[in-house]
Amino acid sequence: MKTLAAATLATALALALAGAASSQAMKPEDTEQWTPVPPIVTPGARLSEKPAAPPSDAIVLFDGRNLDQWVTTRDKSPAKWLVSGGVLVVSKVGGNIETKRRFRNYQLHLEWRVPKDVTGSGQARGNSGVFLASTGPGDAGYELQILDSYNNTTYVNGQAGSLYKQYPPLANAMRPPGDWQTYDVVWTAPTFAADGALKTPARVTAFHNGVLIQNDAVLSGETLYIGKPVYRPYADAPIKLQAHGDPSPPLSFRNIWVRELAAP
Ligand code: MG
Repeated sequence: MKTLAAATLATALALALAGAASSQAMKPEDTEQWTPVPPIVTPGARLSEKPAAPPSDAIVLFDGRNLDQWVTTRDKSPAKWLVSGGVLVVSKVGGNIETKRRFRNYQLHLEWRVPKDVTGSGQARGNSGVFLASTGPGDAGYELQILDSYNNTTYVNGQAGSLYKQYPPLANAMRPPGDWQTYDVVWTAPTFAADGALKTPARVTAFHNGVLIQNDAVLSGETLYIGKPVYRPYADAPIKLQAHGDPSPPLSFRNIWVRELAAP
């Protein structure tokens, strides 16, 4: 009888190979969706200069002071993004960062800001992202897209608030560059059987600036730039922020907290 770990590994390998085979002939454009364009919804009042306090049972991931809760994804060394004036600024050289803690099901709040002097267009204009579960190095995991989508056309399943290349947002609730934006997310992790087969898929509900943008969206697997999403078994995972390589000036983050949730 195979051990559980061996069975899981074998399944993961088979899935990865199947994913690679089905993705081989595909181009990035094959998984872009351009219509229908989500309606623009102007959100309510702008955020104040001082972030609001988190709920009493929240695990604070960034409160403006330091990056103690974060490591560099590629080598688990201390996170190298810049903390200045209570704000966390992406370092494209430093690369993706992720939480030291691992999570399963949770509610997440984070605030992000596209710089006022943002440049570029499409995916090269203020690109970042929050990986709701980081399942490996690089961009492995499940990405909720961060981008300047205020006046910037791109494929709709790649604009701000999209579950990248799977679901466009239900609305475009962007504030202009220079303003703080909020994401509030409910993440229900996928579950896997002992042999690594998918038992229940990942689900996402999300609000952008208080506007519902994902309503219990059921994911088909991990985010892929090329090819169709595939599930790979995992249990708990860090939350990861993306240092995208686009040449536009870097984004900022603040007020990041999470509340762990029981399985639904
Ligand atoms: Mg991104």
